[in-house]
Amino acid sequence: MKELPYARQSVSRRDIRAVTRVLKADYLTQGPKVTELESALSEFTGARHSVAMNSATSALHLACLALGVGQGDLVWTSSISFVASANCAKFCGADVDFVDIDERTFNMCTKSLRRKLENARQLRRLPKAVIPVHFGGQPCDMKTIYDLSREFGFKVIEDASHAIGASYLGNKVGACEFSDITVFSFHAVKVITTGEGGAAMTNSSQLADKLRSLRSHGITREPNLMNRVNPPAWYYEQQELGFNYRMTDIQAALGLSQLKRLRVFVESRRKLAQRYSSKFRVLGVRSQEQTAEVLSSWHLYVIRVEADSRDEIFEFLRSHGILVNMHYLPIYRQPYYEQFNYDLGEFPNAEKYYREAITIPLFPAMSTKNQNLVLKLVGKALFRIEP
Ligand SMILES: *Cc1c(COP(=O)(O)O)cnc(C)c1O
Repeated sequence: MKELPYARQSVSRRDIRAVTRVLKADYLTQGPKVTELESALSEFTGARHSVAMNSATSALHLACLALGVGQGDLVWTSSISFVASANCAKFCGADVDFVDIDERTFNMCTKSLRRKLENARQLRRLPKAVIPVHFGGQPCDMKTIYDLSREFGFKVIEDASHAIGASYLGNKVGACEFSDITVFSFHAVKVITTGEGGAAMTNSSQLADKLRSLRSHGITREPNLMNRVNPPAWYYEQQELGFNYRMTDIQAALGLSQLKRLRVFVESRRKLAQRYSSKFRVLGVRSQEQTAEVLSSWHLYVIRVEADSRDEIFEFLRSHGILVNMHYLPIYRQPYYEQFNYDLGEFPNAEKYYREAITIPLFPAMSTKNQNLVLKLVGKALFRIEP
């Protein structure tokens, strides 16, 4: 039996040629292809600066550091996300707290955010940064989050790991119109891939310089940024404690080639998602609702079923070769985070969501025949299993 994964990368012959060309050229590690990818990302999104890295996790870490997140600070993120959205603040010694999701969009709920901020102001414990996550590729209500950031004085990092190619109010996600920094992931399951990789977008040249420095050991080779005047040609300076979070030119070449195909990828995903949604409406199955101001990049397609029958439906689909998945267990329920004793009563929508969610297959090369099979088996599972 042929298995149908929930996500699959599309690597073309042209992608492969782009990579092999780099293998025969002068630079393997960060070199001209990384610079070229950064320019292409800036041009695509409209953000002034782009800093490519070896993963979105690294980019989130450096975004926190660049915005001054440190020991004793507080960072908030969405309760339903990949753990890296929270871990990045922990790397900086900060404490993490979570915001409940919106029942319909599965994104950070701005009403809960406001309530939590008002409460935090009374307790004199406001977050230094908030990290909204564009779940499944659907942009969050960024305008409201931005307004709240002005009112309550916090920084905003968009975790757009799912959302390259999505738009919000007519602008591309990554333009940073309503945030300080936006982070993309190029992990193999995401919308475009470099194998492993990520990037941080920003309109601030100070933040971009900081991200570049921290990406490579805190070292600069720019004479005009150095402490020493008239440095000799061999000289470089480590000015702060940084990391090795560089992307390779091999990865950047793949990323550049994939970026050229992004529009087509998103178009295929959107068509498949629309077809799913119209069929599921007939079946009475709930899925992620799209708000008027967004165009999602459809990294994930999540349906919600009755909590009592979710695991059974999940197993039925898996046993028929539909490799469904679950995105995500609320981060505060991960054993590592349980030690911090979050009040689960604060997250009723996240609690309900994770008991009902199933991620079903969606990727650009998925055929109508594949999709029909998924639809047929989901229908069968519901009919067989639901009361
Ligand atoms: C995949 C993902 C990340 C981490 O991306 P990497 O490139 O694998 O480090 C962070 N946040 C979210 C929401 C993700 O889905």
